[in-house]
Amino acid sequence: MNTIGVLALQGAVREHIRSIQDCGVYAIEIKHVEQLEEIDGIILPGGESTTMRRLIDSYGFLTALQEFGKQGKPVFGTCAGLILMANEIDGENAHLGLMDMKVARNAFGRQVASFEVDLEINYVAEDFNAVFIRAPYIVEVGTDVEELATYDGRIVAAQQGHYLCTAFHPELTDDNRIIEYFVEMVNKSKQSLAS
Ligand code: GLN
Repeated sequence: MNTIGVLALQGAVREHIRSIQDCGVYAIEIKHVEQLEEIDGIILPGGESTTMRRLIDSYGFLTALQEFGKQGKPVFGTCAGLILMANEIDGENAHLGLMDMKVARNAFGRQVASFEVDLEINYVAEDFNAVFIRAPYIVEVGTDVEELATYDGRIVAAQQGHYLCTAFHPELTDDNRIIEYFVEMVNKSKQSLAS
């Protein structure tokens, strides 16, 4: 059986654990670098990317997470997690740099800091109830990155091979379709890594 970890330094950890379990997959909170060896894929949750980066550095996760991705193991970043995955951030230095894309933080402005909208997400759903909280958006993507969803002309979900990200919080609703999509990515990568 596959195991999916949730980086548990800060942010919406418990909600992701519950959604993974709802998909029938074993889930663990990742608090130490050594635990990365126990998992087949990882979710980087929403929260606050600057704080998360500080904790990533204090717990020695930066190169460990980059190596995890280089092994071909799937990584799914939601909201702040998406910011962590980008190789370019408008106005500041990048963090993990796993995906070839430029992101802007807090991009939907103060008045509409949090909102919900029904989104069409390629391969996943035609009507996904997406919850945005002080969300970033993807300004532009490299040629290897596929846009999966847009809202208001802005890219809010994308995939680059075994890397997936959303500007919204799928773990805050009962709709597990995008987590199921990630679970499927993990199944496929485990099969190909084993063969
Ligand atoms: N605005 C936060 C950041 O920049 C992300 C918000 C979220 O994860 N809900 O890190």
